[in-house]
Amino acid sequence: MQIVPYPHPALRWKSRPVQEINADLRKAVAEMFELMYAHNGIGLAANQVDLPYRLFVLNLTGDQDAKEEELVFLNPEILKRKGTTEGEEGCLSFPGMYGDVKRAAEIVVEAFDLDGNVFEYTLDDLGSRAVQHENDHLDGVLFIDRMVDTVRKTCDPMIADFEAQYRRKQTEGLFPSDDVVKARLKELEPKPS
Ligand code: ZN
Repeated sequence: MQIVPYPHPALRWKSRPVQEINADLRKAVAEMFELMYAHNGIGLAANQVDLPYRLFVLNLTGDQDAKEEELVFLNPEILKRKGTTEGEEGCLSFPGMYGDVKRAAEIVVEAFDLDGNVFEYTLDDLGSRAVQHENDHLDGVLFIDRMVDTVRKTCDPMIADFEAQYRRKQTEGLFPSDDVVKARLKELEPKPS
């Protein structure tokens, strides 16, 4: 498992709901936490590791010793959004790039945990922003899509750079062609039982 950089096609994939909590899924979640900590992140979505599942992990402290802060969101739904707020975000799929993004100030989110229990949180500040950012990933929506124009313009050269780097690595065979990636994602999609 690896974190795939922009513009890997998984980052534009609209993921399907998880149908079954099994050993493979638990293993994927454990690996996602490991990768997230290794890259000093506080959240990581399945799309970012080339998996088409509606799933993301979160630890707002970013501290791998704070296991009690670890949260797994399966099939999340944002039920309510209130107010707006602007703040800086980064993304492990765009290493080193930061920019202000407008988000709802407060949200109510519902999801399943790894035991299959449904939970609901009312969040503001960092928690609200992180959940909105990660939830967007599951729809193939990226923070660069939500930047205000002036911020986006300052990021455009870096975005072009990410694209150039990715295409070069693809040419070198370090990433498969987009068609191959998409076919694999399609194959991995959870099927309703
Ligand atoms: Zn992200």
